[in-house]
Amino acid sequence: MPELPEVETVRDGLQRWVAGRSVAAVDVRHPRAVRRHLAGGADLAARLAGRRLVAASRRGKYLWLPLDGGQECLVAHLGMSGQLLVRPPDAPPEKHLHVRVRFADGGRELRFVDQRTFGGLALDTLVPAADRPAERLPGSIAHIARDPLDPYLDDQAVIARLRRRRTELKRALLDQTLLSGIGNIYADESLWRARLHGARRTDTLPRAAVAELLTQVRAVLRDALRAGGTSFDALYVDVDGRGGYFDRSLAVYGQEGRPCPRCGTPVRRAAFMNRSRFFCPACQRPPRRRPVPAGPARIDRRGAGVRA
Ligand SMILES: [Zn+2]
Repeated sequence: MPELPEVETVRDGLQRWVAGRSVAAVDVRHPRAVRRHLAGGADLAARLAGRRLVAASRRGKYLWLPLDGGQECLVAHLGMSGQLLVRPPDAPPEKHLHVRVRFADGGRELRFVDQRTFGGLALDTLVPAADRPAERLPGSIAHIARDPLDPYLDDQAVIARLRRRRTELKRALLDQTLLSGIGNIYADESLWRARLHGARRTDTLPRAAVAELLTQVRAVLRDALRAGGTSFDALYVDVDGRGGYFDRSLAVYGQEGRPCPRCGTPVRRAAFMNRSRFFCPACQRPPRRRPVPAGPARIDRRGAGVRA
């Protein structure tokens, strides 16, 4: 699932190739791709025709194109496998091409391609941001928190809110209403950089540890952005159809059994919310729990002894 660096890479491509252009016609080829637009594909096409897409905007993992007039926008949900491609009009249709946007200038068109159809496009109304009314964002994502690369993010407020939570650290990092843009990959990578185990309880963490984590979250997101994102499952691509290459720089995510780049201890994988967490058991000490019976289970859980 694309996270902030991947969505920002796509946004940057849309800003360069699509912003400022007027829509001539929209062809919705698959109803599932517009299911979030409740009035249906024909309505979406009719309301977009003749409108200008003035910019490409993002908050966290969410992407939208404000329309001329300043009241509405086209929201793009990438879901698991959604791609926004900018293609010459005569390029053959992609196998999973669901929506095609042609422009009045006759130039490259915008295509929404989605193998697994969890993503889609919808029109939405722009509303003022609660903490900064001059800023407008789609009503459907108004509850999403600012992301770590947002200049208006209030670090101290995020740190305080996180420490007030009574949950585990990785769960808090994935909570898009606390801090947006981070998914499984960058959560595991930033926890590793900050030497924190994701199962640590947020209400036991010192302020300095959370501040350091936020620093490392920003660092990993910026590094990934420079690499064009992570194309871990080969589904994420930029508007030109190219993948990112940050997967080559991943320290722990997807690296089970490989040596930790910092200390050489084999990276571990553990279950986490129907998914996985990847961590170095030496650099990221699991939290102390209530006493458990001695034996292999205890050694395994505490991560002790694996450096031998
Ligand atoms: Zn390590």
